Amino acid sequence: MDTSLFAGLIRMHDSILFVVSSANKYLVFYLFDDCKRRLKDLLLQSDNRFCADCGAPDPKWASANIGVFICLKCCGVHRSLGTHISKVLSVTLDEWSADEIDAMTEVGGNSSANAIYEAFFPEGVSKPGPDSSYEERMRYIRSKYELQEFLKPSLRITSWKTSSSSLKSSFSTKLFDSFRIPSVSKNMEGMVEFIGLVKVKVKKGINLAIRDMMSSDPYVVLTLGKQTVQTTVVKSNLNPVWNEELMLSVPQDFGPIKLSVFDHDTFSADDIMGEAEIDIQPLITSAMAFGDPEMFGNMQIGKWLKSHDNALLDDSIINIVDGKVMQEISLKLQNVESGELEVELEWMPLDHV
Ligand SMILES: [Zn+2]
Repeated sequence: MDTSLFAGLIRMHDSILFVVSSANKYLVFYLFDDCKRRLKDLLLQSDNRFCADCGAPDPKWASANIGVFICLKCCGVHRSLGTHISKVLSVTLDEWSADEIDAMTEVGGNSSANAIYEAFFPEGVSKPGPDSSYEERMRYIRSKYELQEFLKPSLRITSWKTSSSSLKSSFSTKLFDSFRIPSVSKNMEGMVEFIGLVKVKVKKGINLAIRDMMSSDPYVVLTLGKQTVQTTVVKSNLNPVWNEELMLSVPQDFGPIKLSVFDHDTFSADDIMGEAEIDIQPLITSAMAFGDPEMFGNMQIGKWLKSHDNALLDDSIINIVDGKVMQEISLKLQNVESGELEVELEWMPLDHV
């Protein structure tokens, strides 16, 4: 019988295995590398599953100092700008320092970063798509990060700090400041200014339509202006529970949020499983009428009424809950045989301290 004792450490991808063997029995302990885990968790956040610059799915690269996840093609452009503008790292292949991961976490992902770097969209400028040419990408990415043409004017800085240690703090200060500077800066001609963020929690679907043989693989897409965000795909489920939070920046001349449910198909185009519009006017109007919600206790401050020309199942109440402006919404999906969707909105004005 082998009674020798063996103990050792084996390093694998994102974890360290501590192995003890005695009498032919192996005990394996996983010592997770918390940093890498945090980076992975951040990458799994729904807004980070698409390139911050062109929207291509599954970005595997990141700009550690800017705090965005990007695709391979955009990564090439970032690289060409130099590390003083963008320090590109592979999410899977490179070694990340704890500081770099902290900086990424602090920014909070692509939606938060884009709410800053794409705060002002000059008319006629549109984001590149996954298939855009190198030149198109280059023009856009330089304007966005190097020239910072889409920042709020109050955030534009003339001398960009170049030492990598100061980049993190300079960005997070800017990001933080943007939530403190009242958004009263002049609306320059042809520019879009954002007045706040709406956090949409897609909670669940009920009795959704069947699109495959027996079931569907549903996911939800939200569109507001030029922005599109989406949830993960839930496999074979007509009553999926997502509980996923998606962020959208709200321009001054906002329209409704368009919501669509799709069935994910691996081999063909995804099928639509219904749609609905969310009118965010009642939410924003009542939030603005009350000002700082932290001054109030929990109370009802508004209502979006069910009518024959909206998708509401019931009147939707707007409440102050623990200092936040929240709205619960139950929707009957339109242009489909069946399906309901429950979402929750939270309004976050940009001048909120
Ligand atoms: Zn890209």
